[in-house]
Amino acid sequence: MKLKYFIYLIIILTFSLNLSCSPKIKTIINKHVSSNVHGRELLKIKLSQKAINLAEEIEKICGKPIKEDYDETIEPLAQANITKDGMPTITAKPSAVLSEEIIVHELFHLKMKIRGFPTVSFVKPNNVDKQKTEDLFDFIHLHIFDVIEHKIFYAELRQLGFKPDADRISEIEGILAKGKFDNEPVAPLLLSLRYFRCGLEVNDQPILLKLKTFYQKKGWDSTIKKADKLIEIVNKINPKTPEDEVEAFIQCANQTIDSSLSFSFVRFEEEQYGTIKRKFAKVQLNINNSPK
Ligand SMILES: [Zn+2]
Repeated sequence: MKLKYFIYLIIILTFSLNLSCSPKIKTIINKHVSSNVHGRELLKIKLSQKAINLAEEIEKICGKPIKEDYDETIEPLAQANITKDGMPTITAKPSAVLSEEIIVHELFHLKMKIRGFPTVSFVKPNNVDKQKTEDLFDFIHLHIFDVIEHKIFYAELRQLGFKPDADRISEIEGILAKGKFDNEPVAPLLLSLRYFRCGLEVNDQPILLKLKTFYQKKGWDSTIKKADKLIEIVNKINPKTPEDEVEAFIQCANQTIDSSLSFSFVRFEEEQYGTIKRKFAKVQLNINNSPK
């Protein structure tokens, strides 16, 4: 049983992809870049008034300016965090090509934390490898939790006039034009999770249909089936609250991981981070004792 567990971990981690928003909260040496006030930039990207308003709303609630950090070691292009002293922070890879959409995306992750949407705090069993299990948690968080959170706040971003799925649509168009993913062969699980991500993030039915046809031509029907099941779970719950978000996450994660593993919700915990009461969802990884 344990062997199966680690083989599974190796498979998924070998095929891990670079997508935005890793849950990794790293202790890094911060390079504080001072923010301009009006006509301002964040991470060297000039912001429109709508984006400035968003940034200022966050700063007002936190009572602190948004800190801009750079860290080449982060997996995604950018990530957002609120530090223990209540400092809203956006960290980007120095090599990443950023855009206002990416900055606004991270501002919304900050907004979600301020609103009490949780950060997942995973609990692992004692008898498993720490690093591999943490890699599994990062993987599941990146490919499932973040995607569900995106579905929740993308609707709001669209109402504000942003195009949160523009980069994803360009990415799909690139794949369709080339007739392949950049890094084929892609593991079936990752094919499913890419389809799942597009299905929840992209609000463009014709392009989603083209993606489906592309998958079918490749003979990847079973990966569509798996992704559709996950999409159905999320759409049925239609998450709007922190509780819904965690429920959708647990159900999707359990459909995704090997049957020798399961996740279960333990409880919410709250902790004061400066002026912000941050919420954490404790989620337990279980290794199931199957008779096999
Ligand atoms: Zn994100």
